[in-house]
Amino acid sequence: MAYLEPAPLKDKENPFEAMMTRFQKASQILGLEEEIYNVLKNPARQVIVSLPVTMDDGAIRVFEGYRVIHSTILGPSKGGIRFDPHVNLDEVKALAAWMTWKCAVVDIPYGGAKGGVACNPREMSSGEIERLMRAYTQAMADVFGPDQDIPAPDMGTGPREMAWLMDQYSRNKGMTTHAVVTGKPLVMGGSLGRTEATGRGVMVSAMAAMEKLKINPYKATTAVQGFGNVGSWAARLLAERGLTVQAVSDLSGAYYNEKGIDVDKAIQYRDNKKGSLEGFDGAEKIKADELLTLPVDLLVPAATEDVIKSSNASDIKAKLIVEGANGPTSSKADNIINDKGIMVVPDILANAGGVTVSYFEWVQNRLGYKWTADRVNRRSDRIMKDAFSNVYKTSQQYNVPMRIAAYMVAIDKVAKTYKFRGGY
Ligand code: NAD
Repeated sequence: MAYLEPAPLKDKENPFEAMMTRFQKASQILGLEEEIYNVLKNPARQVIVSLPVTMDDGAIRVFEGYRVIHSTILGPSKGGIRFDPHVNLDEVKALAAWMTWKCAVVDIPYGGAKGGVACNPREMSSGEIERLMRAYTQAMADVFGPDQDIPAPDMGTGPREMAWLMDQYSRNKGMTTHAVVTGKPLVMGGSLGRTEATGRGVMVSAMAAMEKLKINPYKATTAVQGFGNVGSWAARLLAERGLTVQAVSDLSGAYYNEKGIDVDKAIQYRDNKKGSLEGFDGAEKIKADELLTLPVDLLVPAATEDVIKSSNASDIKAKLIVEGANGPTSSKADNIINDKGIMVVPDILANAGGVTVSYFEWVQNRLGYKWTADRVNRRSDRIMKDAFSNVYKTSQQYNVPMRIAAYMVAIDKVAKTYKFRGGY
């Protein structure tokens, strides 16, 4: 069948091509019909808008904005909004599909979407960003909606932008509508537990995987690449569970301490140093790439895409990799890692704690109620554990790696739902 021809693997593969390679492979093992494959491959809706914005100097600039709804088969679509100069339709399409699989694998009732505007927020004033966000929201007034499509922050946007989006949408509809967007500031309907949610999900997945691999957390060591939101929370929570965090890194370099890094101290240091670990004295500085090949039990890539590739995969010594970042492993590296018998908890499962708590934010908004942090954590831990065990079971049953199993669980769920709902 045509769809079973894998795309040729290039030397430098982008994470979206990598995602498509896995999607094809998982569909093949599932024996998915070609017609259903085609339904799931193509986005349901793509919206492109021109956004004229008056800049501070009085000039009018026109930005191009996108929203791609990949799927609404499982429920209203969910996905972030990216403000970045590199935003383009192809990228947004791929990220939207990614969201469909991520929501499906953790079994939350959402489809997948993504949006973006090609702009450079670092060179724009707060007023210019606000006007752009309001113009984008206005242009998407019929696309967004608590029962239709629910945006969230992504690269270049955060709670401030989500507040403007919520306000603009609410003005337009003539009623305050909290549930139209997640990732809002806490005072206006954001959820407790959202900040740490992704790192916490990484920790929960890692603990579940260590149990299967019979690794005692109190005797285990870990290295965490990336010390931003995901990496620092994952490191802190893993240390709380008994692991020795031997290495952490950020753009300033990698830091190693065989006896264990004091993660709270490192976080405090970073917060006092405008977000960078440069000069951190609780560890010795090592070469940035060395972190990935340290002889630790658990490796957590939580920085950026495409860091584990065919050139370094064979040097990895960890027994377990839990992907905090999106797309940290190239599909070429998959085979090398699998041959070495390393278990990988893939991104669409391991970092889904964030979208899970976003879903809780939407649930709380719809209830008109606020949950305690404890309730949020307990419920998201449950979802992450169940998703892990479901994917693990599938990987055992079909004798496939966890990554392929995660895609199989997601695709199977969406495909079955599509068949029940039916088409024209
Ligand atoms: P962030 O901007 O808060 O932190 C990124 C960290 O990685 C920083 O410490 C930065 O210095 C470091 N970094 C960047 N490139 C690096 C490199 N080459 N080597 C070492 N360190 C490097 O971002 P974040 O929110 O923590 O997101 C990290 C990853 O997790 C991204 O891939 C993101 O898409 C993914 N993710 C984030 C969330 C979330 O809720 N924040 C949810 C799902 C997935």
